[in-house]
Amino acid sequence: MKLANYLSGKWQDGAGDGQWLLDPVTGEKLVSVSADGLDLGAALAFARTQGSAGLQALSYGQRAELLGKLVDVLMANRAAYADISLRNSGATEGDVAFDVDGAIFTLKYFAKAGKALGDGKFLVDGGRIPLAKDNLFAGQHLMVPLSGVAIFINAFNFPAWGLWEKAAPALLSGVPVLIKPATPTAWLTQRMVADVVAAGILPEGALSVVCGSARDLLDHVEEGDVVSFTGSADTARTIRTHPAVVRGGVRINVEADSVNSAILGTDAQPGSAEFDLLVKEVVREMTVKTGQKCTAIRRVFAPAAVARPLAEAIAARLAKMTVGNPRNGEVRVGPVVSKSQQQAALDGLAKLASASEIVFGGQEGFVPVDADAAAACFVKPTLLFCDKGLAAKYVHDVEVFGPVATVLPYADVDDVIAMARRGKGSLVASVFSGDAVFCQKLIPAIADMHGRIMVVDAAVGGNHTGHGNVMPSCMHGGPGRAGGGEELGGLRALGLYHRRLAVQAAPGRLDALSEGGVSAAALNA
Ligand code: NAP
Repeated sequence: MKLANYLSGKWQDGAGDGQWLLDPVTGEKLVSVSADGLDLGAALAFARTQGSAGLQALSYGQRAELLGKLVDVLMANRAAYADISLRNSGATEGDVAFDVDGAIFTLKYFAKAGKALGDGKFLVDGGRIPLAKDNLFAGQHLMVPLSGVAIFINAFNFPAWGLWEKAAPALLSGVPVLIKPATPTAWLTQRMVADVVAAGILPEGALSVVCGSARDLLDHVEEGDVVSFTGSADTARTIRTHPAVVRGGVRINVEADSVNSAILGTDAQPGSAEFDLLVKEVVREMTVKTGQKCTAIRRVFAPAAVARPLAEAIAARLAKMTVGNPRNGEVRVGPVVSKSQQQAALDGLAKLASASEIVFGGQEGFVPVDADAAAACFVKPTLLFCDKGLAAKYVHDVEVFGPVATVLPYADVDDVIAMARRGKGSLVASVFSGDAVFCQKLIPAIADMHGRIMVVDAAVGGNHTGHGNVMPSCMHGGPGRAGGGEELGGLRALGLYHRRLAVQAAPGRLDALSEGGVSAAALNA
């Protein structure tokens, strides 16, 4: 079966046989995708006119209601999404929960939060700014929805969450969406769009999908559009410098790769709550979605005296995780998504191993449960140890996109600050420490190089939301190498899909122009 593309309000087949999507456990051909021969320029023009008009005729509150209806559609079809995730991504039930339920949770969040914007159709930002004597002339900032299309070019690892975490704030803003999922796992995204289209909830042109290598898509972007990209730093560079993007001054949001870290405080000892919580979290980060999470812990920093016991404790817990075919109920860790991802992960692992010691795992002699290792795409969870600190080769630079992490001992707080910063911009760092002095020195010193910092101590215990778990109410994104993008963070996410402008006029004119607007202060609620 070839997946159809939904463009210009019609289901359309790309030319040719297309590219096959495979089962990463069995190698079975599942469905194919093709974007060849499709008129993507026309599709964007249709979304800009029909989609934009249909959405922007509604208020924020009405669009929030539509998001609520989308939640119902997705929940009603969850079983189909779990099945596709299993077959196309080798997802365990836990992985499905992370992607599919995470998508529904995020959409639900915006459906609820968006109600606060009520009847408004644009945002009134801040108060009046006097610009002349006797109140004759004044300024007012407004935030108006973009007139173009939100184009999402997404990574393979979150076909469900990756769509809805972006689409929820875009649609709530009144901006139509065209999603181009990554080819290896495009099926789930396409199926979700198909279910939403079939339900007839959104205005025509509000949601489009193109599957396959839509390489000329960016030739058709123009001013008023926004491109939100998630994927590798290399592709991000290509997108940022695309002539049409540069020519149109098109807004770009980039979520790229990241060598995130977890830091054990100087106060933690084997058996302490913080030590045990970190062990649990590292194993969870290495194994959920088989480590294919942009936020996953890649480097684990520990005081030199406890780094070895920490590595041993992590290894002991990893040993209990059954790796193999997720159709077997005992399996906790599935495959990576494709042969090329497997090869990329193994190449990265070989680099790390050339400069570090393998404490647990490694591919040698590894036999996945209920699967043919040659046909399947497994990477054994692998923990490394590297005592070269800041001078270590590869570990601060190479993101192995799989179940791989490295423990690095540190000498003192200055040493761990330097190593965390050496990631050159990360999505998240988590700190496991009950030592207030340590935290007060560490956190401000690494803050500008991170998008999120999670601090866990004995009092928080297991009540934290998770190192790698992105909450819709908290900002997601990171500086530098992580792409510099910002997503989510509550209703402030709508900022990406609005343009802020200053209007300068007589106060009476400003009153009239502000009618139909809602205070942007609601974004911070
Ligand atoms: P990728 O190879 O860069 O691909 C990402 C997307 O870009 C895919 O949809 C791909 O389409 C498309 N693409 C590739 N070349 C393109 C071009 N020249 N023009 C337009 N689109 C193009 O990345 P990936 O391997 O899918 O994803 C893994 C990476 O994503 C990891 O590095 C991970 O850290 C990062 N990631 C980051 C986040 C975050 O939120 N920061 C989240 C998830 C993943 P095709 O699939 O058709 O080639």
